[in-house]
Amino acid sequence: MKTLSTATGIAVALSVSALASAEDWSYHGDTGPDHWGSLSEEFGVCSAGTQQSPIDLTGAISASGAAPSLMLNSISGVQVSRNAHGVTYSADSVDAGLTLNGVDFTLLQFHFHARSEHHIDGQDFPMEVHFVTASEDGALAVVGVMFEEGEAHPDLETLWAAIPGEGESGAGPAMLSLERFIPADEPVFRYEGSLTTPPCSEIVSWTVFPTPIEASAEQIRAFTDLVEDNARPVLPAHRRYVLLSD
Ligand SMILES: [Zn+2]
Repeated sequence: MKTLSTATGIAVALSVSALASAEDWSYHGDTGPDHWGSLSEEFGVCSAGTQQSPIDLTGAISASGAAPSLMLNSISGVQVSRNAHGVTYSADSVDAGLTLNGVDFTLLQFHFHARSEHHIDGQDFPMEVHFVTASEDGALAVVGVMFEEGEAHPDLETLWAAIPGEGESGAGPAMLSLERFIPADEPVFRYEGSLTTPPCSEIVSWTVFPTPIEASAEQIRAFTDLVEDNARPVLPAHRRYVLLSD
């Protein structure tokens, strides 16, 4: 188990920022993704940035040794909060994080997007989960996993059942094992990008699994009934490379 003093400070800063602007942006119309950059000075990089996320993961270059070492084990005392943009799961105690280029990152929170934000070779997926981790100096590393329609996932009923009303928080499962959200060991996509919500800060090292995991059609529908379309469209890769690392 790790204590989270520094990481929690970052989580608070991120969520305060999200809350302060919760009314100001959305996924549709005049306050939708095409307009985020002009809604606020602090959102400028959403439109001006050249390392924005998500992207279409295609044309990846094989690069051995660049993958993070994942330790997404178990979390306990799960907390759930919901705002206009989605649902965030955090935990009182985490035994979960990753090591990337020799730097340790600890899990801050995870959340789901529907449909997926990243595309793989031009294809999107019904849902994508993001595990957000932070280093002690405030760098972020996010792991993305796609869902495809198939067998029911053993944990989603419990996670959906804990979703509170908009603007509210509540208790989730006492214990959750995160391994069931991680596909079998395989090469992963790696690239440098951004938060996919305002302020779109270009501080995220992304790891995305090429192979989806499964959720039932009912589970996907249950989530999209609550959280309608919270996926930012893909942005240009510009001068970035996507690596495929093992
Ligand atoms: Zn996300």
